[in-house]
Amino acid sequence: MTEWWDKQIQRADHLAPKANGSKELLEFYAQLLRAQKNIYEFLRGHKHWLPSGDLEHDLPVVVNALPGFLRVVESCGPASLAAEAADLSQADPQVLAERLMMYWGNASDIQFFEKAALQPYLRWVADSGARPVGREAAVGERFCPFCGGSPQVSFLQNKETTAESGNRDLICATCLSSWEFRRVVCANCGEERPAKLGYFHSPEFDHVRIEACDTCKHYIKGVDLTRAGFAAPIVDEIDAAPLDLWAREHGYAKIELNLVGV
Ligand SMILES: [Zn+2]
Ligand SMILES: [Zn+2]
Repeated sequence: MTEWWDKQIQRADHLAPKANGSKELLEFYAQLLRAQKNIYEFLRGHKHWLPSGDLEHDLPVVVNALPGFLRVVESCGPASLAAEAADLSQADPQVLAERLMMYWGNASDIQFFEKAALQPYLRWVADSGARPVGREAAVGERFCPFCGGSPQVSFLQNKETTAESGNRDLICATCLSSWEFRRVVCANCGEERPAKLGYFHSPEFDHVRIEACDTCKHYIKGVDLTRAGFAAPIVDEIDAAPLDLWAREHGYAKIELNLVGV
């Protein structure tokens, strides 16, 4: 999984200098990914400890992994997040612990610190063979089978072993794992009538598209790895932030905002 973080970081470093309309977002995200990788490494390297998957039980270790992450947000983040990071650094660790528990019980995409801190924790829960417990997870094909999270982005890839419908996957916004999903279905409401589903892309982002649903008025971005195998969906999704603007102007809401708030 360390390689997974490195791949995202390299992709963000690669895209940021030539980004059009998302340069600052990608520069921040590149630093954020480094801080998340450090959280992951801290947890993985913690002696004589493995996560139980019960956040309340694991909190003392998780909270100890966060000071470096808060410093990164304070120095590289947009003003409002930087100020909040400074406050949290000074606050009693219990404040952060309580916020993490609230997110654990009811995740929301506007809770930046909680979402960013728990992604690497949940990755290590998954990689170490545990499962999240003590949270009411949403169940259904549109939710992550591991943690119940909502999808952050979808991607297409060639899989030799599966049929046409089997090559679309969703990446979980909460734990970053992925799961197979049917190709022509709204990832928010399950709409499957083709006339209600629209796809929009601009030549600028050849391998990224908006996948919109006229029934629930939600959208998700899709990254086509068959056109750009070197892409990293959660990073390329941020690079293509101008497409989100287009979607919002056309009345669609994103299923889940990403960590840079787009
Ligand atoms: Zn998940
Ligand atoms: Zn829908």
